[in-house]
Amino acid sequence: MKHPTFDVLVVGGGHAGCEAALVAGRMGARVGLVTLDQRNVGVMSCNPAIGGLGKGHLVREIDALDGAMGRVADVAGIQFRLLNRRKGPAVQGPRAQADRASYQKAMRAEVANASGVFLIEGEVVDLVMSGETVCGLILGDGAVLSARSVILTTGTFLRGVIHTGDVSQPGGRVGEPPSCRLAQRLDGFNLPLGRLKTGTPPRLDGRTIDWDCLETQPGDEDPVMFSFLSNGVTARQVRCGITHTNPLTHDIIRENLVKSAMYGGHISGVGPRYCPSIEDKVVKFAEKTAHQIFLEPEGLDSHTVYPNGISTSLPLDVQELYVRSIKGLEAAKILQPGYAIEYDFVDPRALDPSLAVKSIPGLFLAGQINGTTGYEEAAAQGLVAGLNAVRRVRDQPPLFFSRTNSYIGVMIDDLVTRGVTEPYRMFTSRAEFRLALRADNADQRLTAFGRNAGCIGESRWIEFSNKMALIHQVKAKLIESSFSARELAASGSALNPDGPNRDGLAALALTDVSFEQIADLRPVFNSVAPAIGSQVKRDALYAYYIDRQAKDVESLTRDESLAIPVEFDFGSIGGLSVELQQRLTGSRPATVGHAARMEGMTPAAILLIMAHLRKPSFKSA
Ligand code: FAD
Repeated sequence: MKHPTFDVLVVGGGHAGCEAALVAGRMGARVGLVTLDQRNVGVMSCNPAIGGLGKGHLVREIDALDGAMGRVADVAGIQFRLLNRRKGPAVQGPRAQADRASYQKAMRAEVANASGVFLIEGEVVDLVMSGETVCGLILGDGAVLSARSVILTTGTFLRGVIHTGDVSQPGGRVGEPPSCRLAQRLDGFNLPLGRLKTGTPPRLDGRTIDWDCLETQPGDEDPVMFSFLSNGVTARQVRCGITHTNPLTHDIIRENLVKSAMYGGHISGVGPRYCPSIEDKVVKFAEKTAHQIFLEPEGLDSHTVYPNGISTSLPLDVQELYVRSIKGLEAAKILQPGYAIEYDFVDPRALDPSLAVKSIPGLFLAGQINGTTGYEEAAAQGLVAGLNAVRRVRDQPPLFFSRTNSYIGVMIDDLVTRGVTEPYRMFTSRAEFRLALRADNADQRLTAFGRNAGCIGESRWIEFSNKMALIHQVKAKLIESSFSARELAASGSALNPDGPNRDGLAALALTDVSFEQIADLRPVFNSVAPAIGSQVKRDALYAYYIDRQAKDVESLTRDESLAIPVEFDFGSIGGLSVELQQRLTGSRPATVGHAARMEGMTPAAILLIMAHLRKPSFKSA
């Protein structure tokens, strides 16, 4: 019997699955996107928000590679805030609260309209193998689908168990069944599986909240969009409410701790340290008498409110008690109880940096299945896996992202070399080259890279090329111009007026000189569009530091690019400890850079490996 044949099959229509399918479609592949319930494509399982510190950088990078998340979040955004606005651009993080229904609708439309992407509803229960290689999928109804590359993006569904108090039930997220048959099938591959957990707060009926007594928070007056292609907000903007837990709330939680699924011993998985449950906050920060809660409307046509900061696995009656102890929520009605979910994940050290499973050719993993948490982390991995899945089909070498060009590279390197001990989320502090990896220059870092890889559509490429031409023109003109220290000081800079002249770019590198000041001094720059002017300013501000980083980047890139062939015999390196030999053989780092960042690796061991790789006998082998 002839089975439907695809280039790439993606399992899961969540954030990773959508970006994986979309990028593969953009590259011209024939893609099957198989998901349990097609109505749930693009669902935000937890908080209705995209971006934030580090996460906002990932969304910008996805957008720079022509992915959908940024555009979709811009369309659905009902409150935009640039976090860390008062700090430097390198650590600012764009964030938007989204209308949950609009986000999902827009993402579903992206998938439905993507050329070459076919949405298939069904449960994937098995992988089809040809020897050791994956070559297709089997669905619950017995249908067989074929493809040369298969990507699993099953999120929290693998053997998912939902906990509320002492009640536990199987589930991939509320109202949806878990994926157990696929999990059992994966057991047979001897993949290193572990167990993690995450949680979500109770959802409240906004009509029962006393908004009048609460402080509120508006969005920014000049909203910063995610997508380099978006021109401004389209949806009506809303305010959030702010309230706090109090000593009574904490007493209620403390008295009922044993009823919490987590503290009652029902959960073994490790939870996200940076997104703790309210039980965790009360226990671990016992000295604090209040925790802030943002009351975020879930949409313009919805009464549901997401109380950000009180995720829980306590039973419903205790959730009601503690919620009603909080100012403004005295009469609040819970529409959906909070819960915790435990699920299987695969130790990402089983993957290479293209997100391919090292021991199973043809199989890629992306998203929460790799031990991460968050929509943005999932979407970014989906994009990388989708891109590399297509390259595999075309017999092209994998494309690796580097720590020096992107947060995507930082995340993947962290995952595949260090693994995870708790759900991994992105922070700016994880990136050692964060002055260069800014949200504002994600397109400058990645769009041409993506174009070479074949994942950038024509219209984005034209828009990007025009923007870069303008930036180069303005920079060239600035370099030709000269400003005296006296006139810069007179325009407001704290510069010594007797200092030397400097060209326009050097003047802009001063923290207290803006593009507008330069344009006031030289009207020729008045015609420059404000967006181009501020980009030139940001580039100039960081140019000096980035130059200083360039040496570090260069040596890291050199190491990173020194590939370690799969047949390389670590056991043959005399002087390397047996423990390191075994660990290296087990995890098979793809490059010296990856080996260097493995746990327990020493500079001396890296030198030994490099010496072996550079041996003429090995090179010619
Ligand atoms: P998901 O979005 O979970 O998508 C998985 C997809 O796979 C679904 O479409 C599902 O139908 C499909 N699928 C699964 N098995 C099969 C199968 N066998 N066959 C076909 N299709 C299948 N993130 C945060 O950043 N902060 C939080 O506080 C937070 N809390 C969370 C709380 C809960 C209760 C949940 C469920 C998630 C939470 N998350 C949180 C995580 C966030 O939702 C995920 O990180 C993100 O959705 C992961 O995206 P993904 O694409 O990997 O998986």
